[in-house]
Amino acid sequence: MNFKDDNGRLKAEFTSFAVSPLLRACVLDLAWVALNTLNHDLTITAVLRTAQEQVDQKVKSDFQHCVGEAIDIRSRDLQLDVLNRLISYAQLNWKDFCTLKLHTKGTAPHFHLNVNAKYSDREKIFEAVHSVGGEKYWTG
Ligand SMILES: [Zn+2]
Repeated sequence: MNFKDDNGRLKAEFTSFAVSPLLRACVLDLAWVALNTLNHDLTITAVLRTAQEQVDQKVKSDFQHCVGEAIDIRSRDLQLDVLNRLISYAQLNWKDFCTLKLHTKGTAPHFHLNVNAKYSDREKIFEAVHSVGGEKYWTG
């Protein structure tokens, strides 16, 4: 598994207590599957986001990155059939816990993996939303 940056921030975030252990487990499982069945080494492109980065990047509905409940993974180096196989794998194996989606709007296309509501700390997310100015960031 690779990290997009070369300053160590992403790796430090990925291995920190700030990230949901459930989410980390799903990422590691996905990385293992990608490497061993598709011979592809996944690259993590985003882990945590501060409230200010959330505002700066104009990401409106991605608040799970502010609380360690979402991770982005590069998708542009994968063929469509491979993307679909990974999404199917995620749905089959951990649909109760985490959701893997292909995000194509706004920024460069990427996988967005997030913890499902049932296992999410909604209170932390609520606080993150309000720390940057209110509910308007929920819609988008
Ligand atoms: Zn994301």
